[in-house]
Amino acid sequence: MRPLTLRTKLTLFYCITVSVLLTGFALVYYRVLSVGIDRDLTQDILDRTSGLRGYLRFEEGQPVFLFDTNDPGEVTFINRATRYYQLYEIRTGRLLAESDEPRSSQVRFSPADIQHYAETSPDFVDIHTDLERIRLRYEAMTVGGDSYLLFVGASMRPIEDTIDSFLEGLAWLIPSGVLLAAITSWFMAGKALEPVAALGKAASEIAVSRLDRRLPVQGTNDELDQLAIQFNETLGRLEKAVAEMKQFTASISHELRTPLAILRGEAEVALMQTNSSEQYRRVLASQLEEFEKLTRMINQLLTLARAESGEVDIAKEEVNISAMVQTLTEELEPVAASKNLNLSCYCAPDVIISGDSAWVERLVLHLVDNAIKFSRPGGGVTIRVSEEGQTAIVQVEDDGIGIPPEALPHIFERFYRADPARSNRSEGAGLGLSLVKWAVDQHHGSIDVESVPGKGSRFRVKLPSRIINPN
Ligand code: ADP
Repeated sequence: MRPLTLRTKLTLFYCITVSVLLTGFALVYYRVLSVGIDRDLTQDILDRTSGLRGYLRFEEGQPVFLFDTNDPGEVTFINRATRYYQLYEIRTGRLLAESDEPRSSQVRFSPADIQHYAETSPDFVDIHTDLERIRLRYEAMTVGGDSYLLFVGASMRPIEDTIDSFLEGLAWLIPSGVLLAAITSWFMAGKALEPVAALGKAASEIAVSRLDRRLPVQGTNDELDQLAIQFNETLGRLEKAVAEMKQFTASISHELRTPLAILRGEAEVALMQTNSSEQYRRVLASQLEEFEKLTRMINQLLTLARAESGEVDIAKEEVNISAMVQTLTEELEPVAASKNLNLSCYCAPDVIISGDSAWVERLVLHLVDNAIKFSRPGGGVTIRVSEEGQTAIVQVEDDGIGIPPEALPHIFERFYRADPARSNRSEGAGLGLSLVKWAVDQHHGSIDVESVPGKGSRFRVKLPSRIINPN
């Protein structure tokens, strides 16, 4: 079965609501109306009975109504009140007098009925005749030692007619109301959903190759406009991510192509020209360097890919940065010395953060490694560890070649190398600082850099330090 469209669902919902509401109102009104007119009729009969008793006299055992025939009010009342009336003698159960209506409808009570009604207190009884329903009030009365039972009533047909015409009206009103609601809601739902359909159409035209397209924003600032704005923002992020991915793929291809071309060239030349084993050894040794660079790059790429896909867990352990940096300095001193560099370290004691010691070590190591790499012989690299409030600061400073201002905003991007010609090409693929930035972000820290070309650079990492409980 085909699923219902949103428009159909909205229309159905609206119709059901309207029909439930209309039926509910109709039921309540029906109840109020029927109870109201029934009560009015009962009260009217009660008034007729008590009025009629006032005019009833007995002359030689026969009932007569004594009233002023010149008073139109009294005449009208007597005419109305005596339309449905009967008078029985209780003792014999004999009918003494009655009006035309009960006579023609052949309303008769047996002596047993009369006896029964006489014994109960005054009340009402509804009689069904062939023509109509009649409500009668019966009251016992005693005149001159004899007891009588008086019946006074009225036809219930006016009530029934009123209720019938009310129900007839409802039978038209409810279906017409529901039909009207269906037409209106179908039209309204169609109108309201028009922009959604337009959004859907525009969205379906957006493909990966056309991520620069945006959904139309009407400027009404309603929910649909908000949806379009949010969708457009998502598209913007997607476009940026796809562009980065394309750039990344292009960079990887480029980075891999160069060393592979070198390896291939060297191998071809060796095959064509080399004949001594010493020459082969030299070619292989040169190729080893390229293999090393390739391996390093692929390892870094793998780490970066794992890190960005959330596969890497960052531990939360106490890391004593001061001790770590001191150990690192001692380990790197021989490397610095081999480049005729002075490596010094100024560490405040026991600066402790909560984090992953392997990643913190990796990031510090990379910054120091870069500082050594981009320094000139005879220069110096200084590492400082300090604490400001609840922030641990690691600063790596060199007086090397510096970074051009136009390159500064890009150095944390993947594969970015500021003027690769300045450094030994085989040393790095421009991935190290992206890893450093990722690690700093994972520790909820920040990294900034100041650099003057020709004078040196200063990288500063700020990491939230852990408050150590003295106990
Ligand atoms: P690589 O692995 O090639 O060193 P990085 O991501 O670590 O790549 O650094 C990116 C670029 O930033 C480097 O190629 C270099 O141009 C510049 N850079 C980083 N650190 C320094 C520094 N201390 N002095 C000068 N330039 C630097």
